[in-house]
Amino acid sequence: MAVPKSKITRSRRGMRRSHDSLVAENPNECGNCGELKRPHHVCGACGHYDDREVVSSVDEIDLEDDAA
Ligand SMILES: [Zn+2]
Repeated sequence: MAVPKSKITRSRRGMRRSHDSLVAENPNECGNCGELKRPHHVCGACGHYDDREVVSSVDEIDLEDDAA
């Protein structure tokens, strides 16, 4: 197993961790349903992107018909 040659000081550890923080998202409102969504991503609520429906949103799927 690799063993550190010397102790990482609090200062160096802090310098390394200075880049570890997460950046908050900047959500936009969906143009179709008004739900908050990530910019340049398909709306998770209605499946619209660029004023078109690109992912079909089916409210209820009847699984009974497929069961043989
Ligand atoms: Zn939407």
